[in-house]
Amino acid sequence: MQKHLYFSLLIIFSGLLGVNAVGQVSQLACHEPALTRFTFTEPHMGTTFRIVLFAKNELTAKKAAAAAFTRIAELNRIMSDYQDDSELMKLCKESKGRRTEVSVDLFKVLEQAEEVSRLSDGAFDVSIGPVVRLWRKARRTHEMPDAAAIKKALELVDYRKIRLDSKGRTVQLLLIGMMLDLGGIAKGYAADAALEVLRHDGITRALVAAGGDIAVGEPPPDAPGWKIGIAPLEDSKDPSEFISLKNAAVSTSGDLHQYVEITGKRYSHIIDPKTGSGLTGRRSVTIIAANCTTTDAWATAICVVGAERGLKMIEAQKGMAGLLIFETAKGIQTTMSKNYVNYRWKQ
Ligand code: AMP
Ligand code: MG
Repeated sequence: MQKHLYFSLLIIFSGLLGVNAVGQVSQLACHEPALTRFTFTEPHMGTTFRIVLFAKNELTAKKAAAAAFTRIAELNRIMSDYQDDSELMKLCKESKGRRTEVSVDLFKVLEQAEEVSRLSDGAFDVSIGPVVRLWRKARRTHEMPDAAAIKKALELVDYRKIRLDSKGRTVQLLLIGMMLDLGGIAKGYAADAALEVLRHDGITRALVAAGGDIAVGEPPPDAPGWKIGIAPLEDSKDPSEFISLKNAAVSTSGDLHQYVEITGKRYSHIIDPKTGSGLTGRRSVTIIAANCTTTDAWATAICVVGAERGLKMIEAQKGMAGLLIFETAKGIQTTMSKNYVNYRWKQ
């Protein structure tokens, strides 16, 4: 007897993406043993991490997911800027301008952050921490941060003053008082790392979603890719745009969920390092690339850069695609890189 198992789910994340993973297992059509879909969720890094994977049985699935979540928790202990004893916070508070040897993970994420900073002309800058802290306070009090305080905080913002030396795996923060914030890249790094753990455990058909940052491996059995819905600008609406993805990653950044409204104006949690202001004007940037560390950082960067320059930057990066939705005086404008169409879900 031919046996079909159908899977369909639609998840709207606390981040900006909806994932709709549609798979079908047919024992006759498939040459691999029958696989079952499992979903696991855990809160980490201030968001919900969701793992969707296909495995032979529940025990294998649970063990692999537990190992992946353990890895994510380990990365949070390294990269969190909310935990005073994270490796990142200790580096910021204790290194006092000295070269400091750091873990492989911290070094790698800083290296990748530095590359995106350079290529985005400083639009992405993990030394934005002191300014982010002022805006976090504004989110609580609904009062504009003090202009003088922003100006002072900006003096500590300059990614070129984070000196990385790969030989000794050391980091040197050249401005005393620098406060790094990996909020724009750590979730993507963790999604990549979790997918790697699953692969290591023999689970190749898997998706790891950290809010709006999603890394995927092989697609569900009998599906060409993972079907991922891109959330529209309006929170209340369901996605109408879908992409198909395998062995790649996608991130969406914008002001959909994280913002503060002060005297009728909406300020995003993403800061322009040149002005120290939270971004204003509705926007949603979706980036597709080979890994989620890259997509996470670039989606944040392109939000800062804007649609016109952003599109040029995306086109200049090999293997990167983007969908940019910006609210302008003429209304909502959607632009996409030339290769974005290759990822569009085909019925
Ligand atoms: P994302 O949600 O990935 O776009 O990242 C936003 C988070 O990154 C913020 O909550 C801050 O922690 C941090 N961030 C804000 N502005 C920047 C920026 N210009 N460059 C790097 N990180 C930023
Ligand atoms: Mg990001």
